[in-house]
Amino acid sequence: MSLYEKWDREERKQKMDDKKKVVIDPEKCKLSGECMKVCPEKAIYVKDGKAVIDYDKCTLDGICIPACPNGAIREIE
Ligand code: SF4
Repeated sequence: MSLYEKWDREERKQKMDDKKKVVIDPEKCKLSGECMKVCPEKAIYVKDGKAVIDYDKCTLDGICIPACPNGAIREIE
């Protein structure tokens, strides 16, 4: 991991400490799987028929937000 990647990861972890979070709206999610394809951390998985985020893995990069064709993912504070 490069120095920049390490710094970037620390920056994102800091955002999480600031209580920011990426969430999936189960009402909008149609299980397209697009978020799972783009998540570099493999932090999204399906449990009991719903897409969920593993917050131990999520680095808040936000890549999954525009990837969702149903607008089901957003960042909250
Ligand atoms: S914000 Fe990034 S790491 Fe977190 S679930 Fe979305 S794509 Fe994965």
